[in-house]
Amino acid sequence: MSKAYTRDYWEDVLTALEPEGRHFIDGEHRAAATGETFTRPRPMDGKPGPTVSRGRAADIDAAVKSARTAFESGVWRKKEPLEKKKIMLKWADLIRAHGEELAMLETLDVGKPIMASLNVDVRLCADGIQFYGEMIDKLYDEIAPTGPNARALVRKVPLGVVGVITPWNYPMIIDAWKLGPAIAAGNSVVLKPAEQSSLTAIRLASLAVEAGLPAGVFNVVTGYGEETGKPLALHMDVDMIAFTGSTEVGKLIMGYAAQSNVKRVALELGGKSPLVVFEDADLDAAASAVAWGCFYNSGETCHASTRLIVQRSVRDVLIAKIEAVTKSDIALKHPLDPAAQIGALIEEAHLQKVLSLIAVGEKEGARRAFGAERVMTETGGYYVSPGVFVDMTNDMSLARQEIFGPVLAAIAFDTEEEALRIANDTIYGLAGAVFTGDMDRAHRFSEAIHAGTVWINTYDMSNFATPFGGFKQSGFGRDRSVHAIDKYCDYKTIWQQFG
Ligand code: NAD
Repeated sequence: MSKAYTRDYWEDVLTALEPEGRHFIDGEHRAAATGETFTRPRPMDGKPGPTVSRGRAADIDAAVKSARTAFESGVWRKKEPLEKKKIMLKWADLIRAHGEELAMLETLDVGKPIMASLNVDVRLCADGIQFYGEMIDKLYDEIAPTGPNARALVRKVPLGVVGVITPWNYPMIIDAWKLGPAIAAGNSVVLKPAEQSSLTAIRLASLAVEAGLPAGVFNVVTGYGEETGKPLALHMDVDMIAFTGSTEVGKLIMGYAAQSNVKRVALELGGKSPLVVFEDADLDAAASAVAWGCFYNSGETCHASTRLIVQRSVRDVLIAKIEAVTKSDIALKHPLDPAAQIGALIEEAHLQKVLSLIAVGEKEGARRAFGAERVMTETGGYYVSPGVFVDMTNDMSLARQEIFGPVLAAIAFDTEEEALRIANDTIYGLAGAVFTGDMDRAHRFSEAIHAGTVWINTYDMSNFATPFGGFKQSGFGRDRSVHAIDKYCDYKTIWQQFG
């Protein structure tokens, strides 16, 4: 029987929590070399959050050295595949066993509802580590065709030291998307989590060592982008950066790679995903998909369905349905309330950015259908109600910029050609969706939307078998699926001649 979680229960968990905020380097917690720390206000109530080490180049150097030593020694990559698999599966089990603690650390850092942290973020993090752990003893190399007097082995070898830089919106999940395949492939990792969300990364590292991962294979250095992320991306002894974050910073990462050792990069960047609804669609299903697709995680989702492109004949009825679903199903509450479906935005500066984009949108002529206002100010936290803007064109700021808040831009169309043109008129290409009762159109349209994932009559469905990532300025390289392993490996040819 599942546990009956209450607000009081979670308040007690929070009171008992003693978050570890130091780096994790070479199998142990370490203060920053300078001794510096930082704190941030808690998104849920604005009170001071936990103290975290402020990493700089010296800390990155120490972590890279530890990662390199572990890699060269072969303590991990040369272990029997079955042994490696057992360690990763134990790590996944420990993540599940510490689920409540990890969920609270995540909610404390980022303000998402505690039940979402537990039931979605912790679960998918553990599942990700398990997925790649299970692959370890099923990866084969190749023998290339040659003449009879030669044998050519095509080996898939790990790269060495992988730097991972992640954002704050789904910290544990995105960490697992990268740690799983990078470590399963035999690499060592130095992870730099976002400065807003350090706590779960640190705990994932100590649990990995508890599961048996050798010291140095997975290190965490916490700190700010410029001070900690940049030295990692510029480091001459890092072989790859796997990055998830904004397109703006992704471009910097490419530059750092070019300025240093031509390390390879994989980039999962921003999005402004279209969800297209034709008049022959199931409008109830569409309304629910639009609302959850745009407002889940308070809109702080890279592939959020932030542009609703709706056939004019059904626009008003669909907006009314979206409003009804939002108000009845998507409860905005304090993150420790088990009934909360969405919670706080990440921080004051981000809240102000969202509010100012809304103000710009209104100035440009977008009309507020409902919501999109600052609420729950009495909590001291950063809350915006989910809302929709109509009377929009695709050139307005609300339709072009990644708001990263619970704000939907609704744009009307008349013909299929127009809908497709609007859908693809964006610098991004992360995801998209089409809702229609006409299956020919569904397939035609889903092929034509230029995005890494396209859903038909649903939104945000996925599993670990499906690759995730973007086209255009949403980046390149794929997380999830068996293919994710490839980017953490290189091919090595070994040719043997027999006389
Ligand atoms: P961000 O780009 O500001 O930061 C991401 C990471 O980069 C953080 O760890 C940050 O400290 C670091 N960073 C910042 N400046 C740096 C620098 N100069 N050098 C090295 N590292 C630096 O993004 P964010 O605000 O944390 O996250 C939101 C963004 O992430 C959105 O654009 C969102 O779309 C994107 N995102 C994309 C995906 C995806 O899979 N495509 C998933 C989640 C989030």
